[in-house]
Amino acid sequence: MKKKSQSSSKQGAEKNRGNSDHTLNLHHQRLCQALSLGLSKSYGDKGRKWHSSDIEIHRLVLRSIDAFLDCISAEPLQHPFVKELIGDMVGALEGILQFTNEATLSLVSDVAVKMVDIVPTSVMDSYVIDLVRPLATLLTSHNLQATFSCATALELIISNLSSKIEGKVWDIMKQTNTVIHIVNNIRGFSNRTTPIENYLKMVSLLSKILQRWQPSRFLVWSDAKLMEVLEVISLDPDISVKFAVLQLYSALALCGNGAQKLLENAETVLPMMVQCMDSSNSISVRLEGFKLAQCLAMNEQGCSKMMASCCDPITNAIIDGMRSWGTLPGRIPKDTMFLLTGACRLALITCWAGEHHKCFWKLGIDQVLLKLLLKDFHKIYPSQHYLEKIVTAEHGLRENYLVVLRPCIWDILGGLASHCLKDFNPSMHGEEFRMDFLIICACLAFVDSIRQFGQSDISHIFQYESATRTVLMMIYSPSSYIGSRTIFFLSEILKPNGKEYLKRLLAKLSQPRTKLAMLDTLQTVIDLMSLACYSGLCQYRDYIIGRQGINTLVALIRWCLTNNVHMRRASVAPHLHSSVLEKNCCWDHTEDWDGDDMALLFSLWGLSELMHKTHPDMFSSQVDCSETQLVSLLQGICSDTSAPGPRWYAAYILSYFGHYGFPSKMGKRIGNVLNDKEFADLVFIVTNEEPLTVHSVILKARCPLLLPRSVDEFFVRQDGEKGERSRKEVCLKSDKIDRKVLLKVLEFVYSGHLQAGEELVEKLRRIARHCDLQHLLQILSKKHPRWGTPFPTFDLWFALELAGHHLSDIALVAEGADIIDWMCNTCSMTDPHMHVHRVILLSSSSVYFHGLFRSGMQESHSETIKAPVSWEALVKVVKWFYSDELPKPISGCLWDNLDAEEKLNELFPYVELCWLAEYWCLGDDLHEYCTRVVISHLDSAQRLSVKLIQIAASLHQKKLVEVIANYMAPLYNHLCKSGELDEVADELVDMVRAASVRHFQEGGHSHT
Ligand SMILES: [Zn+2]
Ligand SMILES: [Zn+2]
Repeated sequence: MKKKSQSSSKQGAEKNRGNSDHTLNLHHQRLCQALSLGLSKSYGDKGRKWHSSDIEIHRLVLRSIDAFLDCISAEPLQHPFVKELIGDMVGALEGILQFTNEATLSLVSDVAVKMVDIVPTSVMDSYVIDLVRPLATLLTSHNLQATFSCATALELIISNLSSKIEGKVWDIMKQTNTVIHIVNNIRGFSNRTTPIENYLKMVSLLSKILQRWQPSRFLVWSDAKLMEVLEVISLDPDISVKFAVLQLYSALALCGNGAQKLLENAETVLPMMVQCMDSSNSISVRLEGFKLAQCLAMNEQGCSKMMASCCDPITNAIIDGMRSWGTLPGRIPKDTMFLLTGACRLALITCWAGEHHKCFWKLGIDQVLLKLLLKDFHKIYPSQHYLEKIVTAEHGLRENYLVVLRPCIWDILGGLASHCLKDFNPSMHGEEFRMDFLIICACLAFVDSIRQFGQSDISHIFQYESATRTVLMMIYSPSSYIGSRTIFFLSEILKPNGKEYLKRLLAKLSQPRTKLAMLDTLQTVIDLMSLACYSGLCQYRDYIIGRQGINTLVALIRWCLTNNVHMRRASVAPHLHSSVLEKNCCWDHTEDWDGDDMALLFSLWGLSELMHKTHPDMFSSQVDCSETQLVSLLQGICSDTSAPGPRWYAAYILSYFGHYGFPSKMGKRIGNVLNDKEFADLVFIVTNEEPLTVHSVILKARCPLLLPRSVDEFFVRQDGEKGERSRKEVCLKSDKIDRKVLLKVLEFVYSGHLQAGEELVEKLRRIARHCDLQHLLQILSKKHPRWGTPFPTFDLWFALELAGHHLSDIALVAEGADIIDWMCNTCSMTDPHMHVHRVILLSSSSVYFHGLFRSGMQESHSETIKAPVSWEALVKVVKWFYSDELPKPISGCLWDNLDAEEKLNELFPYVELCWLAEYWCLGDDLHEYCTRVVISHLDSAQRLSVKLIQIAASLHQKKLVEVIANYMAPLYNHLCKSGELDEVADELVDMVRAASVRHFQEGGHSHT
């Protein structure tokens, strides 16, 4: 019986198939006939071209395509006809779309939508390009239905576009001004001429474009009117309207500048975002809210701006999202899992300090995290003995419940631990046993990682990385509660085999190494973090030191520096970046504490703990290199590394050797002028001892509280004049402060660091506290650097602002006074100028200024100096004088959207500065930096090379001219033909020609 029924249903299916095959054949034939009416005989290798202008034929073809598509819609890939006909069908559509006849417009655009919807991307891919142009052009049509359909078709095309043709499609959209047309359509909302669906369609198409193509974002966020209109649209109470705008915002926030704009309008954008996150909405709406928040919080600045106004509701929404699955029995549905992942990802904002930490604790984040780690969380009872707790947690973790979320959970926990307050105690917010379990779970995962000993597969390595990092954060947490509990539990868990693991770890780390592949570097980072964890446990410290641990770490630090070992965490940890966020642009990540120096940071971390926590004499007997060598190595890290973390740890280790502070290039420069007496304007008189001469401008910028008016406790004021220049004198109250200590403090103020024996530390701390030198105070206390603390920069720029103006003793005047209405706040000079300080100019060790100020000639008393460069260049070089940093040219979207002239204006000052660096003898660093800036921008400004080579030649920049000539070599033929070289001096043209001959001899190609 059963068999029979089966076979009969099979027969039925075949019969159906037979029927549908018949219909398909029919439609296929009709379509072929119709197409042949309008297509030319042959058209290249891509199919035939449409030539018919007969509306009736258009209609016939469109209806045939429509019917054919309906026929194949169930299984489009099954039919060989599709591949065979797709070229002709696209050709016909393209032709009819271009015809833009009102009678067929709606029909043709609808058919286009159906086609891109039904025909699979794999077949469509090579043809979509032909459709993009006519579709994009029609976005300006007055036929609302047609524009709607065209937008729908484009949206479908863009959503499924393969990255191979991404560039070509963007080119077409640029040529057809697609983004501008869409923007104009949305701006029309203020007149409300069409139904809201049409605007929403445009908004949603625009978000797809913004997501994919970075350059499109500028056109949107820089359009103030559009941003206003979007805000108005978002006020619509309908949540689907808000959702569409939210999608656009999250795409826009992928650009750092776009996010900035959104945060400027925080009062409308954020409430809308928060409203969408609410648990009463559908999961996709909530997720979109999370996504926007995640984009806005891409760096610490963004996060704190966002949290400033919406801390409570955002943390609430996150916790809601993380709890959302709690009520569901059995397997977690897919979309709930998405929500959970989205909420956890956003919860990673715990990696930054801020008010949200308090909110998270208040809302019971510990309980939420524990529930995500241990499935049978509810069976845990609080009063277990600690050994039982460990066993319970071990069993719980082994169930591998929600294991994909673990890296995220560890990171959230690590973030919470590293930004706790000192007096944090879990009993303030919940119950201690929860925190205990969280700590135990992380410690177990960490021990699991060292047990595996690098044998783990790639899917585990990221989980181990985050678990290890979290344990490190907990051991060194500012909260002594978390720190001591972690050390306690970790010691217990390590008891049986801890030493054995450590032995293997040390052996592995001491192996010689060269440049490693990415995964091996990551494993080294994990090993270094593990060693830093071990170094936090006193029972293992002697063992590490006995096994050459200090030497191993010093060798690893050298390895990082000589091999340029760089790795940014976000680029390796998969849970930190989704494919969407990968497309971001214009974000500044320079503040990230570990930056791309993870390996260096954790080597220094372990080393600092070993050195500070062991016997002071230990160093000389343990280390191969001399103290001087190590000190200069660490000072180098302080002044040359870009990430704050390694710099802080290097400074922290330096304090072990009695070097307190933050060495930097600028500090080195200013430190040299402490001994300058000529331009000093303040004298500290000490009875029976040599007076101390200082420069008020430096004190004003670096330590204003040390100026006499503020510290009457230390000084007796006694204004008087002495010598040629007017100088103020103050007497030291020797019972309050001694000269030696004051000199040390001045050393710090001038150079950013000081060297002092143990006996002075207490006195130094007293003044540091009095003068509010917080960073010095911290380093004198030899306290562990706190994760995320910015590294103190040496910047005298403050001295240039109004506060320092009255201390200025010279003005730099720019050339080419073509700035209209230039005004100075302090004087009546009309040429653009800046009031600066002789002593700072001298600190650059420029022979030019030394000659000028000390020659005794008339110029040495002059109140102004001509700076023969433009105002823009002058501002930049003054910034360099006062901070040792030159402002960077604008970059990202902003640079890409400048026209050729603006780009030239942006680069011109750097060429001028190349010249000025030579003329004023400002050193090779500045010259090299400027040259590099110009060269690195040649690529994005090809046409500029003709102008730049002339400017560089006129300023005698031989090296730069050579580089630009080489750059122009492949363009030479093209430039000759276009006549662009006509106005260039013959000798420069000859140089380019010679370079181009060399280029072709070496097998290069010609560019156009
Ligand atoms: Zn951008
Ligand atoms: Zn002035």
